[in-house]
Amino acid sequence: MKKGLTYDDVLLVPQYSDIESRSEVSLATDFGRGIELGLPIIASPMDTVSEADMASTLGKLGGISIIHRYNSIADQSAMVWVAALKKALVGAAVGVSGDYKKRAISAVESGAKVICIDVAHGHHILMKRAIKEIREALPDIHIMAGNVATLEGFNDLADWGADSIRCNIGGGSICTTRVQTGHGVPGLETILQCAKSDRNAKIIADGGLKNSGDIVKALAAGADAVMLGSLLAGTDCSPGTIFKTESGELRKTYRGMASAAAQKDWRGHVASCEGVSSSVPYRGKLADVVKELERGIRSGLSYSGARSVKELQAKAQWLQQSNASTTESSAHIRLR
Ligand code: IMP
Repeated sequence: MKKGLTYDDVLLVPQYSDIESRSEVSLATDFGRGIELGLPIIASPMDTVSEADMASTLGKLGGISIIHRYNSIADQSAMVWVAALKKALVGAAVGVSGDYKKRAISAVESGAKVICIDVAHGHHILMKRAIKEIREALPDIHIMAGNVATLEGFNDLADWGADSIRCNIGGGSICTTRVQTGHGVPGLETILQCAKSDRNAKIIADGGLKNSGDIVKALAAGADAVMLGSLLAGTDCSPGTIFKTESGELRKTYRGMASAAAQKDWRGHVASCEGVSSSVPYRGKLADVVKELERGIRSGLSYSGARSVKELQAKAQWLQQSNASTTESSAHIRLR
């Protein structure tokens, strides 16, 4: 049986570096179809992550948000419009049935530069049809599609016309797909497999990224960009209000879009439940959180002696770590 590794299973081996300052590292990414990202960070299409505030601010910081689709076409397009008024690069999510074509056209007319065809199992005949129809209606738009867990899935979506592909099934922090269905592939393994593709589509490492170290590992494994949910959810720019726990901690709700709570809100009933509703600590300003991640990523590249993501991918040397090493790899001071 094949073995699959994920982020905590591995480390990048530090290498000789002649980089004197983190500012020598470039994180700029050609994301295809004329889209340039200053920072390879994409905010997830979730109703506790990506609405107008997230899109406006993350866009200014060099990333891009995908406005979620759990709303009316008018509401989604209005959020896209607000981000566009602020000149932020922004995308919009659609599904593979119902209003998806109309939704995509409206979002693009409002300023969306990316249409994300957003389904849990993207290696699917309905995805093939949706890509075809959206490509016919919007010939020049960047189509992001997914999610996939295999090289075969990646290649098929690329051949069907996707410009970028969300890779990872079941690895999100709020995801229960693997428990519910028994299916999935460890997140890092998916990126390593998809990086073998000879197609031009961009690889997005989506879900399961807990810190900047995981982001560096995803980029080193072949990702062109990462998609983040939980890391951006507890900020001033995520939707929802801050609440105080009994112990006085400030938190914000963060929930999977296939959780029972989210499904009740967006479709009035619960079908297959593959996510949980939870909360994350309130972490203050999005700009501070993203800058902190950016510092970690730049530092990560310099540890591999790399001035760009492409150089990182070429130079990366991996080591599988033991359980004892995984413990050693995070703070483990004994207080007594
Ligand atoms: P996180 O960054 O680990 O929190 O993961 C975010 C990713 O989880 C999103 O970009 C989606 O790919 C995925 N996701 C969002 N909602 C659900 C869900 O309800 N079930 C499974 N995966 C989800």
